[in-house]
Amino acid sequence: MSADGDGRLVEQVHALADEIAAVSDRPARLMEVCGTHSHAVARYGLRQLLPEQLDLLSGPGCPVCVTPTGQVDAAIELARMPDVTIATFGDMIRVPGSDSTLAEERARGASIRIIFSPMEAVDLAKNGEQVVLLGVGFDTTAPGVAVAVAEAKRRDLKTFSILCAHKLLIPALDVLLDSPDVAVDGLIGPGHVSAIIGADAYRPAVERFHIPCVMAGFEPADILRAILALVTQLRDDVAEVGNEYRRVVTDEGNTRAVAAIYEVFEACDSEWRGIGVIPGAGLRLRPEYADLDALTRYGVQLHEGRDDPRCRCGEVLRGAIRPEQCGAFGRACVPEHPLGPCMVSSEGACAAVYKYRLMDES
Ligand code: SF4
Repeated sequence: MSADGDGRLVEQVHALADEIAAVSDRPARLMEVCGTHSHAVARYGLRQLLPEQLDLLSGPGCPVCVTPTGQVDAAIELARMPDVTIATFGDMIRVPGSDSTLAEERARGASIRIIFSPMEAVDLAKNGEQVVLLGVGFDTTAPGVAVAVAEAKRRDLKTFSILCAHKLLIPALDVLLDSPDVAVDGLIGPGHVSAIIGADAYRPAVERFHIPCVMAGFEPADILRAILALVTQLRDDVAEVGNEYRRVVTDEGNTRAVAAIYEVFEACDSEWRGIGVIPGAGLRLRPEYADLDALTRYGVQLHEGRDDPRCRCGEVLRGAIRPEQCGAFGRACVPEHPLGPCMVSSEGACAAVYKYRLMDES
């Protein structure tokens, strides 16, 4: 980007911030439901550009963070089994379980492979390793995992299985917006998830709770445009689904990707960290793929995990507190020694605030 280009972007961002200030006529709490948005807000200092009466909250937008400790423990138990290789995206590796992490297990000799595509797990299994793919993520990553599972099934790979911890966002939003300790006035729609499920998926929640929701991209101007659309709706007392990310998000979403998910998985009740068990907010294997379930294959039970009592990730994920309001933030809990997943994941709200606050101070 040239200096001229940078200058134009800065002008554009400040013009949008001025417009938001002119339109905003009441205090409002706007929640971003996407870890990448949380990082962009912190990185570009967008909170500081907004009127004081607009509060930006992080929600349960980080899939690693909402994965409960019991599921992390199950992954660790699998990793401890001789001859089992865990294939996982990098974000999971340092997430604390009850008494260990996958990174610690790897240091003790467990076979843990960081993958960048779920098909890498299939390739490992084709080479004869007993591979357990950790299926962690929202509607965004589920299609790629579903394709890998379908491929393993098609090849009748007896060496492949999956620990399925996928989450579905919309049922969780319903529960969150219904919660008495979460007073949200508007939602910044998650760009990645919405590219798969489509903007229309938010209409029932928007109508039920009379809360506007506007899809946003990830550049500073994208996010500010979405905020401008939200405060405009609030001023006009309307609640609609808006879309300021039309270059990626359509009304109906990516129907082929959604079909790929439900070819392999079906919705199930699922525990979310900080929220509890949510009806229909998770994915499990359909009966015809049940032989690929790692928990059944290796006889592993899901138990309730033990979180560090100082960690308030659950409240951060509900938007009930900001990361800085956790007593451990920046003291007992830092990225090098995280107490909870929100300080580990590249999409975690605590990691975002810590990283960019430090940059501000340097
Ligand atoms: Fe948990 Fe650390 Fe965030 Fe506190 S700062 S909520 S301990 S991850």
